[in-house]
Amino acid sequence: MIADKIQTNLQQSSLIRAMFEEGETLRKKVGAENVFDFSLGNPDPEPPQAFKDALKTLVLEDAPGLHAYMNNAGYPQVREKIAAQIHAESGRNLTAQHIVMTVGAGGALNVILKTILNPDDEVIVFKPYFTEYKFYVDNHGGQIVELATNPKDFAPDLQLLEQSINAKTRAVLINSPNNPTGVVYSEQLLQDMAAVIERKEREFSREIFLIADEPYKELVYDGIRLPQVFNIFKNAMIATSFSKSQSIPGARIGYLAVNDRIADVPTLINGLIFANRTLGYVNAPGLFQKAAALALGHYVDKNIYAERRNILYHHLIQLGFTCVKPQGAFYLFPKALIDDDMAFKDQALTHNLIIVPGRTFGCPGYFRLSYCVSMQTIERSLAAFTALAHDFGQRV
Ligand code: PLP
Repeated sequence: MIADKIQTNLQQSSLIRAMFEEGETLRKKVGAENVFDFSLGNPDPEPPQAFKDALKTLVLEDAPGLHAYMNNAGYPQVREKIAAQIHAESGRNLTAQHIVMTVGAGGALNVILKTILNPDDEVIVFKPYFTEYKFYVDNHGGQIVELATNPKDFAPDLQLLEQSINAKTRAVLINSPNNPTGVVYSEQLLQDMAAVIERKEREFSREIFLIADEPYKELVYDGIRLPQVFNIFKNAMIATSFSKSQSIPGARIGYLAVNDRIADVPTLINGLIFANRTLGYVNAPGLFQKAAALALGHYVDKNIYAERRNILYHHLIQLGFTCVKPQGAFYLFPKALIDDDMAFKDQALTHNLIIVPGRTFGCPGYFRLSYCVSMQTIERSLAAFTALAHDFGQRV
């Protein structure tokens, strides 16, 4: 009844659905409070008060036209405000003309990929990576190329990158802070990556875009500053959203930004706006464009996440797990205690722990914990992690 490709993709992505169902069954059996569900990246802190106030003000003002269509790129004042924020961070001369409001970061990525990909053009990603990328690239006729990273810190292997870029490469897609590892790429790493990409652009005489997927941009810990990609990569575009920074994933509001250093910004932007329109998004949700912009600069308290990270990370390390300490986002990506991450996930379930096998992100042998759950859940889960470690002979 449905297209062959969707049928195949449904099978490929059935793991997450199956886990959700397992969680539901478990919640009915033992009660929601006894299930430690670390599977979903759905932020649990409430949005900042500034966002809620902005929304109330807009609704109560009830200005005529509040719910009308606008320019497919979004409200000019909203885009101007975002451009000014990027200017303040980077010093680059961005204006509203460099910004398109989108339906979340997912929408931004689809708009970008639709705009730049010719059939079979390649998009390079680094393992482990956000699973949806492969479907997004496929949506627009591209081929995803998955490159291994260094297991010590999940940093991209730049030699491998250099060898992998060819005449079909159209983009390198990075995600820092990263889902699922929580790793933040250093300025030096990005500078070195830019040098590789620029060399290859010269070799193949075409643009190779750097797409920075940054929905976790505001969630960086330990005083680390996230490098601004526009000063590092000439042909860069940012795809991002307020989903995580303002805890509003259901509002579906984000944007894309293009670097002012790109050779032909007007053509690129026209293509992006056309893609936003013809993908059927038409424009990003109008009310939420205004609310997110009014609350720009007001984010969820990232200390909430940092504290949860600390507790879980230290507990796992004490139990003998190997895990790169995350510096951002709200995920941990430890090595499973056996090679088979599916069997490990099943054993975790016996302790009411719901975790996501690493193979979902292209890295079997690991698992992902999403710690955007309450502190109470985290504290109550610690004994379950201890019991799980004991099952595999860890004695502490
Ligand atoms: N990119 C990454 C790495 C994500 O983890 C997510 C959501 O979890 C998205 C993009 C999609 O974000 P949004 O909900 O803003 O579309």
